[in-house]
Amino acid sequence: MEAETIDQERISTGNVTFDPLARAIAVENPAIAEVLDLDTGEFVGSNEFITAHRYEEIITARHTIRSRLSEKPAFACALCATPVYLVSNQFKHFFFRHICEDGSCPAQTRGELSRSEILARKYHGLRESEAHKKIKALIEASLVADPQFSEVKSERQWRSKRDPKSRRQPDVQASSPIGQIAFEAQLSTTFLDVVVERRSFYRDEGALLIWVMGRFDPDYRRMTTDDLLFSNNSNIFVVDDETRQISEDQSRLHLRCHYRVPDRSGESLTDRWESRIVPFDALICELESQRAWYFDYEGKAAAIRAEIENDVRERKRADDEALREGFIKFWSERVPHYEAADHERAQWLALREELGEREIDIPSSPDDYSSLVALLNGIISAKAGHPVGWN
Ligand SMILES: [Zn+2]
Repeated sequence: MEAETIDQERISTGNVTFDPLARAIAVENPAIAEVLDLDTGEFVGSNEFITAHRYEEIITARHTIRSRLSEKPAFACALCATPVYLVSNQFKHFFFRHICEDGSCPAQTRGELSRSEILARKYHGLRESEAHKKIKALIEASLVADPQFSEVKSERQWRSKRDPKSRRQPDVQASSPIGQIAFEAQLSTTFLDVVVERRSFYRDEGALLIWVMGRFDPDYRRMTTDDLLFSNNSNIFVVDDETRQISEDQSRLHLRCHYRVPDRSGESLTDRWESRIVPFDALICELESQRAWYFDYEGKAAAIRAEIENDVRERKRADDEALREGFIKFWSERVPHYEAADHERAQWLALREELGEREIDIPSSPDDYSSLVALLNGIISAKAGHPVGWN
């Protein structure tokens, strides 16, 4: 595709010079539409990356990307994980190219991939990123430091006990007092399909799957992180150099846990974020729901909601009671058989409005209906124990 485009452009124009301060331009419809930043483990749209730079910057970036290509590539194709580098056509429009174009990449052959195939490929590529390798190494080192864990293995197959043909390769796995545990490094771009599918595999195995991130910023969450967060009682685990150090110093696995804390503001529920470094054995682990958490957000939030509901109910009951008393007082104190005075009428209208909010309709004036007058006189006399409204 690109080759064709370039040829056509060459015929029509020839070379161009470019304002170094202008925004870099990407080719339209690049073959490699998305690349994986191998340093951060983030996927980036190719054209999004290119146009985020000025022309002079993209030239520098191109040099850096190229110089890293053989040693420690900066970017890889999102679909085949082959390292890529930046090139431009004679129009000085940029695009990414595979280091090795052997036709095996679906981006090049334009092979049709299903959504799940694309996700599986991208997920596989992600495991090659530096960010992923670092989290994996931190998890492994932290586990090895804790004698409660044994058989700590990294990137080894996990064969299903029920179906030997079914297998997964968790980042790290270990035996623990609560059974087998699989640890998966969760980069900010792990996909819900992968999360859901893995969760059911390990549940069927009677094992626990724990997702661990390299960092977490409550103010900058992606949808994919939210999928994990909300299904894990609003607890997210992070492993970093500090937690690894603590795990090693105390010979006990520690993780940094970020969690939502519910709070009450008047009659509504609010949230705030807290985080602390916690030992693994302080976590509540639930195999059936595949959850592991430190702070019980759902339990606490439910208690606050119940408290709010109760207070609202109590307030409504007190309001109803005050209205009932106000109405009886009004009726007991008014002089019967006289047309209502202005202030009396105003009081009645206020009562009428409050009753109306409770879907009880009364006439616009207390004397409108003699049958209502008789009914109220009767009820309120009975309640008072002496005649009200009748002499
Ligand atoms: Zn590719």
